[in-house]
Parts: sequence; C-alpha cells; structure tokens
Amino acid sequence: MSSLETYVENLWIVDSHEHTVQEDERVSSKVDPLQIFLSQYASSDLISAGLTVEDYVHALDTRIPLKERWKIIEPYWVKAKNTSYFEVIKLAVQDIYGISELNEDTVEDLSIKMNSMNKKGLYKWILKDLAKIKVSIYDGISDIVEVDRSFFLPVVRLEDFILIRSREDVRRVSESVKIPIHSLRDLEKALEIKVQSILDKIVGFKIALAYRRDIHFEKVTFDEAEKVLNKILGSEKTFIRYTSPDGVRLTMSDELSVEECRHLQNYMVHRILGLACKHKLPVQVHTGLQEGNLNLVSNSNPLNLANLFMEYYDVKFDVFHGSYPYVRELAVLAKNFPNVYVDLCWLHAVSSSSAKSALEELLDMVPANKIIGFGGDYKHVEGIYGHSKIARKNIFEVLQDKVDCGRFSFDEAKNIARMLLHDNLLEIFATIKV
Ligand SMILES: [Zn+2]
Repeated sequence: MSSLETYVENLWIVDSHEHTVQEDERVSSKVDPLQIFLSQYASSDLISAGLTVEDYVHALDTRIPLKERWKIIEPYWVKAKNTSYFEVIKLAVQDIYGISELNEDTVEDLSIKMNSMNKKGLYKWILKDLAKIKVSIYDGISDIVEVDRSFFLPVVRLEDFILIRSREDVRRVSESVKIPIHSLRDLEKALEIKVQSILDKIVGFKIALAYRRDIHFEKVTFDEAEKVLNKILGSEKTFIRYTSPDGVRLTMSDELSVEECRHLQNYMVHRILGLACKHKLPVQVHTGLQEGNLNLVSNSNPLNLANLFMEYYDVKFDVFHGSYPYVRELAVLAKNFPNVYVDLCWLHAVSSSSAKSALEELLDMVPANKIIGFGGDYKHVEGIYGHSKIARKNIFEVLQDKVDCGRFSFDEAKNIARMLLHDNLLEIFATIKV
C-alpha cells in the first residue's frame, strides 16, 4: 500500500451532509435490513429497474417474513446491483457485519447480526472508529435541531416559512413562534423570531427547494410577495380536510399551487439569505440530481443561482452534489465567485466514477480550498461508512495519478487530501470547533 493511500485512509473527516436517524431512536427498536438499506437511494434504483411502488411498500412490511420479502426484491436487486448505491451497501455489509454479499442465503443472517449489534455505542464504533468522521453537518429535513452534538451539527431549511400555500400553513408558522400573522411584515417577524430562537444550535441554512420547483429565486418586491400572502389569507375556497370516525368534519381553506405562490417563496428565500448575511452563517444548497424517481433535473441547474451568488457576495454558498450532471457549470461558478464552493456530498455514492472524474477535472480548474470532498447524505450509519470508503479511494486515486504524472508533489497531494476531507469545511463553517 502506498503511503499516500495510508495517509488518505487515516485522515479524519469533517462530513458536510447527513440525514441520519439519531442513535437513541435507531437502537430503541428492532432493525430490519430491508427497511434500513431500502430507506433511500438503492430503492430508487430498484424502482428505476422495474419494481412497482406497491411491491416496494410490500417488501418493507415487517409483518411478512423476511425471506418472503427478499423474494419480491431479488429480481430487481440482481438487475440494479451494478450501481454505486449498491456498492455502498456491499462495502457496509462486508466490513461492518462480515457478510460478503447480500442475497437469499445471507439476508436472515444479516438481520440477526444487525439486531445483535443494534445498541448504544453503535454510532461511535461505525462513525468514529471505522469511518473516522469527527463530526457531520446535519440536515434533519424537518428542521430538527436537538441532536447528539458529538456526532452532528444542524442546518435548517425553514421551508415552513417559504412554502406557504394555505391559511393552515400560516396558522402552523404562527403557532410555532407564538405571534399572530396577518401580513407579510408579521411573517418576516416570525422568521426572525424563529432564527433567533435556534441561533445557538445551528451552523447554517439549507435550501432544498429543487425538490419542489426550479431554483431561480428572482428578486421580487414586497408588494408582489404580499399580494400572494393576502390571496392565501383571504381565500374563500374551502375543502373538507378531515372526517373522523365519529363524524367530526373539519373544513379548511384550499391551498394555492406552488407556482401561484412563487413570488412569496422568492421573497422569503431572499429574507433567509439576508439573515445568513447578518448572522454570518453559510448556506448549503441542493443542486443537480434529486433523490427518488420522476424528478426533473433541469429544475436544479446551479446557473439558476447566479443572481444569489452576486447579490449575497459575503454569504458562503456550499453547493451540493457537484451539481451533477451540471458539474462543469458549477466548476465555472466556483472558479468565478469567491463565495461559491463545490461540495461532492452524495456524489461518490451516486456514481463513483463520475465523482472521480469530476474531482480530477476540478483540481485543474478550481482552487483546492473551494472543494469539499465528502458528505455521506445517508439516513443510516452503514451507508455513511460505505460511502466514505469509496470517497477516500477516489480521492487517493485522483491524487496519486496527479503525483505520478508530475502535476503535484507528494506533500502537495497530502495537503490537498486533508483540505478536501477536513480543513475546507471548517473554513466555510467557521463556528464549528473540533
Ligand atoms: Zn441530502
């Protein structure tokens, strides 16, 4: 083993992005290997390979014996296991549970091993001892800020304040911050109160709106945004939301479409960026491929964000997933704008070879301090481990090639590896102390 390989394998990682279930919750109940490994990613590839959504739901129903459920999955697993998502699972199952391949003969054995190891201390062993991850930035999706800070540090999305489409949505925000909301000024105040209340817990903001709409957030006026909010508050359209078994019926205001509320969303995104600027907090943005099926990737082209990079020039934008497949667009943005960073989180698991070739090109194009080498992006710790192993291998191989052809010295390669996996993220998230 070359000494560069050993060096990269032993580096401590500061991980840019996770959605992991907290350990207390994970160890409090029985684990099912299919529910764990098909909670994301691999399940999308199974559906892409032809598995129906009905059969997928059936396969996760633990009332059915595990072997019977595996039978539903197996034909599609065999067709899809060539992808990097499955490579992550394979590495995790091998290294953590000592099982060489997940199949009909091993699935029950895996279940027994997973359950016997499912106790407090599991996260320390997998994340710190095996994966050598010091700490991960945590996106709890529904803005969870109470997390085990020895593993995770949260960012928040605040989508409740952006994606308002009905009076019910307004009421929920109003209740959460305990002030009445009858105007856009009130909504802005509510946002400020919310941010102030969590300021000592969060390390930044996250924008993941590419799952709901395109990510071009035009500058709109207060009046344009208020018109949308007034339409929501003044709506006389109603529908029956709920009928309980004893006949209680709740009639709620109907909701506007995402498109109809666009001005309000744009306005609130700019308000959040204003707060990012005021509180000196970085902003993580989802760009490129979306997880799941039937998404429209053109919604998440990073070129849509250029106006934000220009206006909020002193906010650091940590731009996710190498914007894949728009990785060259992101490289050009990061080369131009001092406040734009390329984050390869998720990408080594999406496609190991795409991540590797992207990194090879990025290192010729973008200053090394602008590249974040790893973020796991997993709900389960097994995925974080498997993904980190691929990322370390990719980073080592790209740097070794550049050493071999004389582009970098050995010491320069070591320095860049440490920047990608550890130092760069700490520079962006200056409040993190490790
Ligand atoms: Zn994610």
